[in-house]
Amino acid sequence: MKKIRLLGTLVAATMVILCLCTVNVRADDVEWNGKTVGIDAGHQLKANLSKEPVGPGSSTYKIKVSGGTTGVSTGWPEYKLTLKVAKKLKKELKSRGYKVVMTRTKNDVDISNAQRAKKLNKSCDIAVRLHADGSKSSYVNGAGALYPSKSNPYVGSLSKESRKLSKCVLDAYCESTGIKNNGLSVRDDLTGTNWSTIPVTLIEMGFMSNSSDDKYMASSSGMKEMVKGLADGIDDYFGF
Ligand SMILES: [Zn+2]
Repeated sequence: MKKIRLLGTLVAATMVILCLCTVNVRADDVEWNGKTVGIDAGHQLKANLSKEPVGPGSSTYKIKVSGGTTGVSTGWPEYKLTLKVAKKLKKELKSRGYKVVMTRTKNDVDISNAQRAKKLNKSCDIAVRLHADGSKSSYVNGAGALYPSKSNPYVGSLSKESRKLSKCVLDAYCESTGIKNNGLSVRDDLTGTNWSTIPVTLIEMGFMSNSSDDKYMASSSGMKEMVKGLADGIDDYFGF
């Protein structure tokens, strides 16, 4: 009888230990899905108006980092919004098994757009550049995605994959948030895109000059939906 009781206690204790271990593994250590996502939170506290080549070997120069736009209702600068979303997106992607590289984790940095691209090129499979738009008209609203054309002299060979990435992320983002989908646009003048050696998209998450978009993007419920949409789109791109 004693033996049976002892055995019972041992079994129970082992099960408790096993359960605790399983919970620990699940909470802290999601298995890597084999993909690494680069996130660039657009802009920074202070613009850097000195110039750099718009692409590798280019004689056309553009300012290193522009100032970005400002929320018409929230008063938030674009760099603050993009970093908040980037940090939440990193957390979400890690919970889905991705490795994540961020170009910046603070607002007070000085990293040019070319440097950002080069940092992500080193170890990432894709680059997701987060931005928000501004317009003279407060009525203009919605989200869009920018990718390089096939004739882009620096990243033309990445046009097709970058377009696919842009479409996946933008469509999932708009579905999750309900923000108007303004579609894809070709852009070959973006330094942070032209220096990329991996498929790259620039997401304009909404118009900060539009009161409704601006308030939505700064709200915690809005940000949750935005992050879910961005992550869903990245899953779509990789076929997860
Ligand atoms: Zn921007």
